[in-house]
Amino acid sequence: MEEIKKILVNKFGKRFYYRGSDVHTKFGVIKAEDIANSGDGSIVKSNTNEEFFIISPSFVDIYRKIRRSPQIIPSKDLAFIVAETGVNKESLVIDAGSGSGASACFLANLAKEVITYEIREDFLEIAKENIQFLNLKNVSIKNKDIYEGIDERDAELILLDLPEPWKALDSSIKSLKIGGFIVAYSPTIPQISDFVEEARKKNELIVLKIVEITEREWEARERKVRPKSQAIGHSGFMAFVRKVGK
Ligand code: SAH
Repeated sequence: MEEIKKILVNKFGKRFYYRGSDVHTKFGVIKAEDIANSGDGSIVKSNTNEEFFIISPSFVDIYRKIRRSPQIIPSKDLAFIVAETGVNKESLVIDAGSGSGASACFLANLAKEVITYEIREDFLEIAKENIQFLNLKNVSIKNKDIYEGIDERDAELILLDLPEPWKALDSSIKSLKIGGFIVAYSPTIPQISDFVEEARKKNELIVLKIVEITEREWEARERKVRPKSQAIGHSGFMAFVRKVGK
């Protein structure tokens, strides 16, 4: 994927991406040379006289353009995981499976290091591409089945976004530091239920909570202030478990 060099933002907050050539939008065409010669905060005009602000891309601008296959964990859920676990620049995070690498990349932007496990080589390639696209240096991908073990020790967080997260419990207990968290992310409640029941059988673990996060965006224009009609669908449930014993 080609590097995003600049972002163009119109008055509605819509973002357009400059990758070195002319930018075609439904608000007209913006010439590459006009963008290349403008610094951050300047205004460029399209051939139909629409105005766009120029900004340098930040992590979130590039992140929303990553390749998505398979389904990624949405930011609302990843942000909640960060809030609950306190993952920070000293943390080692284990992520499985990599899938598109979205959760691995999101967490790598905040953590010290992320190791992500994936069994399928085709997905591994997509994740690799996304890591490069975001220019992240602290993510490593392992082509391994996480149910068979985790090589790393002293992890702060283990994020399990795969069909049978309970199968990774024993290896997660070995890999986590005391006080570290396991988060199982699943689209259905039977998976969460099986995970939580298995986790309760482990002396080292306590089950903290099961959560679903809903995000409802509103529109606000004059007195028309109401939720947007287009609803965001269901993503997944999260079970939070903490290692408290040896
Ligand atoms: N969290 C990812 C999406 C993960 S999709 C994101 O935000 O982009 C689930 C992935 O888990 C799939 O790619 C699947 O191939 C992988 N997977 C399933 N079982 C696995 C296992 N035992 N070990 C490692 N990866 C596994």
